Amino acid sequence: MKRARNFSAGPAILPESVLEIVQKEMLSYRDSGMSVMEMSHRSSLFENIIEEAEQLLRELMGIPEGYKVLFLQGGASLQFAMAPMNLVKTGKVGYINTGSWAKKAISEAKILGVPHIDVLASSEGDGFTHIPEIPAVDEAYDYIHITTNNTIEGTAFQTIPRFVNAPIVADMSSNILSNLYDVNDFGLIYAGAQKNIGPAGLTIVIVKEDLIQTEKTLPSMLDYRTHIKNDSLYNTPPSFAIYVAKLVFEWLKDLGGVTEMVRQNEEKAGLLYRTIEESSIFTSPIAVDSRSITNIPFVTGDKDLDAKFVKEATNAGFLNLKGHRSVGGMRASIYNAFPYEGVKELTEFMKAFEAKEGKFK
Ligand SMILES: *Cc1c(COP(=O)(O)O)cnc(C)c1O
Repeated sequence: MKRARNFSAGPAILPESVLEIVQKEMLSYRDSGMSVMEMSHRSSLFENIIEEAEQLLRELMGIPEGYKVLFLQGGASLQFAMAPMNLVKTGKVGYINTGSWAKKAISEAKILGVPHIDVLASSEGDGFTHIPEIPAVDEAYDYIHITTNNTIEGTAFQTIPRFVNAPIVADMSSNILSNLYDVNDFGLIYAGAQKNIGPAGLTIVIVKEDLIQTEKTLPSMLDYRTHIKNDSLYNTPPSFAIYVAKLVFEWLKDLGGVTEMVRQNEEKAGLLYRTIEESSIFTSPIAVDSRSITNIPFVTGDKDLDAKFVKEATNAGFLNLKGHRSVGGMRASIYNAFPYEGVKELTEFMKAFEAKEGKFK
């Protein structure tokens, strides 16, 4: 059996050793005679899984007391709405517009009728090729929303801004556990699991409990307090996805935690960026000081040549390298589970393609 070099942006590659454990435990989890998929979410076996998953995530990210960890559904996209629903108090919120996902977050706040939405910085005018300069903000905001890593565009905040009178809400879908963050810098972190954590269907929310507004009545499922009160077991959670996430957390911890992941990711990204820089046909559309280490776009500047590269790469077993339909070109998503060896093979393939296609730059 041959595993593909899978550069998918999400759902994305998972650690092979995790998939092997899942396979081994598929028919009978710990002699229970059933798969985790078939198990009551109220059983002690599953309660242990969800508790361990939370414990491991707390350990890996250094999540302080006062922050709740929730295992929800609805994707990061539902958090675009749930965050304002649960956190808005005065009605004044701020957003940093760094890409397609940030725009969707802003758009959901508008749909909800949040009365005062300030876009405090934006790089849209430059095609989102860099993280804009973040102004000093002294005014009070219920929160200021950022997207730590822009999956589609390939940019990432290199430092987390600090605002004196506003907590930060962060969409961390594509670099949670890939970059080292201090959870204390955030009021709320959310992430769809399918990029860097586990299967689709699970959304992680880490929320500072005292920021949640208590005056509002929300539908139960949209109210963080419901899920806090019930330890994410108010209704049936995405139990299998939580189980796989737990295995990924164990894998990550065994490898040396987030610090080791950052080291490996920088090594992988460094190799790919170096290859792009030294290339005579590939370029990076992204400003050097804004580059993501998990999602790396590159282009030849010629649509037909891009298409040719993607086609030949696919035939050679490098899958899902086509850039997002909104930006074109190529994009390599190299999350935690993507092996160094696979990046090395890609760079060798790129060099061979370049030698064959001649010099264009
Ligand atoms: C993928 C992604 C989303 C959307 O996630 P869903 O789980 O599909 O809703 C939102 N934000 C970012 C940064 C993403 O990468």
